[in-house]
Amino acid sequence: MRQPIRTTCAYCGVGCGISATPTGPRTVEIKGDEAHPANRGRLCSKGTHLGETVELTGRLLHPMIGTKRVGWDKALDLVAKRFADTIARHGPDSVAFYVSGQLLTEDYFVANKLMKGFIGSANIDTNSRLCMSSAVAGHNRAFGEDIVPASYDDLDAADLIVLVGSNTAWCHPIVYQRIQAARAERGTKLVVIDPRRTETCEGADLHLPLKPGTDVALMNGLLAWMDAQGLTDRGYLDAHVQTPDGFWEKLAQGHDLWTTAKTCDVSPAQFQQFFELFAATPRTVTLFSQGVNQSIRGTDQVNAIINLHLATGRIGKPGAAPFSITGQPNAMGGREVGGLASTLAAHMDFASENVARVGRFWAAPTMASKPGLKAVDLFRAIGEGRIKALWVMATNPAVSLPDAARVREALERCPFVVVSDVMAATDTGAYAHVRLPAAAWGEKDGTVTNSDRTISRQRPFMALPEQAKPDWWIIKEVAQRMGWRSAFAYQRPADIWREHARLTAYQNGGQRLLDLADHATIGNDAYEAMEPFRWGGQHPFADGRFSTPDRRARLVPVTQMEVQAPLGAWPLTLNTGRYRDQWHTMTRTGLSAKLARHREEPLVEVHPADALTLGLAAGDLARVTTAQGDSVFRVALSDGQRPGDIFTPIHWTDQTSTGGRTGMLPRPLVDPHSGQPGFKSTPARLSKV
Ligand code: SF4
Repeated sequence: MRQPIRTTCAYCGVGCGISATPTGPRTVEIKGDEAHPANRGRLCSKGTHLGETVELTGRLLHPMIGTKRVGWDKALDLVAKRFADTIARHGPDSVAFYVSGQLLTEDYFVANKLMKGFIGSANIDTNSRLCMSSAVAGHNRAFGEDIVPASYDDLDAADLIVLVGSNTAWCHPIVYQRIQAARAERGTKLVVIDPRRTETCEGADLHLPLKPGTDVALMNGLLAWMDAQGLTDRGYLDAHVQTPDGFWEKLAQGHDLWTTAKTCDVSPAQFQQFFELFAATPRTVTLFSQGVNQSIRGTDQVNAIINLHLATGRIGKPGAAPFSITGQPNAMGGREVGGLASTLAAHMDFASENVARVGRFWAAPTMASKPGLKAVDLFRAIGEGRIKALWVMATNPAVSLPDAARVREALERCPFVVVSDVMAATDTGAYAHVRLPAAAWGEKDGTVTNSDRTISRQRPFMALPEQAKPDWWIIKEVAQRMGWRSAFAYQRPADIWREHARLTAYQNGGQRLLDLADHATIGNDAYEAMEPFRWGGQHPFADGRFSTPDRRARLVPVTQMEVQAPLGAWPLTLNTGRYRDQWHTMTRTGLSAKLARHREEPLVEVHPADALTLGLAAGDLARVTTAQGDSVFRVALSDGQRPGDIFTPIHWTDQTSTGGRTGMLPRPLVDPHSGQPGFKSTPARLSKV
């Protein structure tokens, strides 16, 4: 047996360390890495069964032009030529990359550099737009930088943990285990705020099943109540926070406990209990996830949470912080290199001095000077013919974007589509003119950043099969063929890591917390041996200095928008989310028979009262219809649903079933600040098939 290799899980943003011991060319024994700070040896079901997903079933192993297998040179030459020709004829904004939180930081960096520094457009967006971009926008508004001011250690130190819009027990299981361990050891209180009564609520002291979309009202109501009790920290606010004129006066109007309870459709007694618990426990961590972010008012919901923490001084201290937990393994690394269309690089925005600074650093010939198109708008532009060449990397937008039928029409119309993926048959790959075989987990080599800013190595423990290549190599080969040979002359991931680290520190002047100067000259051996480390320190902002020009945080006034009442044709509200044992579009977890046992088919969860009205029984087939499309699901009755709300899972695709196609259903409406789609509240109806 070979030696164990220390690597990082392929799935969620908890970022668990894994000890992988190869037992053959394509077999491996998986254990939790006892030394990794994120999981201390523990793994959830998905991580535990990673070994069943490393075989070559379904892999894309050769470059393909149409249905013809070709060599790398031919495929790369064609991609470079078509992108260069399109840019020459129609300008840099006529091309786009749509990338992924599955990419490693090094992959992300090269893609971002090529698009923003050399092609000269910011039309590179990522599927992380669907996951946490509202948190990014909220952090930037409040802190002046996209910082998660918390770590998993804060869960051990908190006296109260509030989970908002997160089925943590299923979606971030190791975080949930850590919370439960803290409860057992220290008596930490747990409150869950979620319209659904999920498995997460089973281990909680209190569940507040608020009406979907009323999070701002709840957080404003709590803040107004705290202020009325004299429990806000005016000393902290005076010293460290900029408060807009009239903030408190406006907050005092219409945010009394009774009005708040009515708006949120939760009993006043439950709110009283929560408010008093919050007041009594200064060591509070508020974890939030997709239920907050995936909303057309997601950024305001994030800032409502951050306002609460700033105004009560619950930030920058052990056990006190707002804590965004990300869905993907490297959403955070992508944020750090600037892999969103709305950010430039290294936590910089498109301010002219930043554009000039990054341009100098890269010696870039054509810097993008303004934000690019965010995911939903980007695919709309493809459908309208404004984008004529698209490169999709490690993601499946034909399934995962809202209004997926329109996304497919856009892909169909796009003159040139490139897909880099590990799988041969994906719903998006069906529209590709060129498919490029990418390295998979276990073959990839680079770094990822988890939800608490811990950077860990993903290390290879298997050889690259057939013609598969790392994403960074594919991108740099295209860049070099487009004429930028020396700027993309990377030999190994460590070359890219050093350049990323140098850029974070380049003329930073201490303004941004993201500063990896210590890694700017790291040797190849040290990179190989890199231990997990957390950038930004244990408690960012502990000194009360933020990343804004005046070093003060911002209270952001946020107002509860009216929640649309169900309309006659659409009497139900559709919420979407994940299952415990599946990941995204099941390209990897679908290979494990053991994982499939948890939920063998996609279910629509319906409150029993609604099912009675609709003449539905458990096990029936029912069609969910929205203004965007329809799909058939098996009915499951659940009194954890609020009456009027239904829930479907996101995972099933053309490759896995004929029904259960959630992506066809949500509206392509987005948050105005972040561009994140609102997946959680689509008007819908349900009918027996
Ligand atoms: Fe992997 Fe997330 Fe499970 Fe950890 S909690 S083993 S990172 S899927």
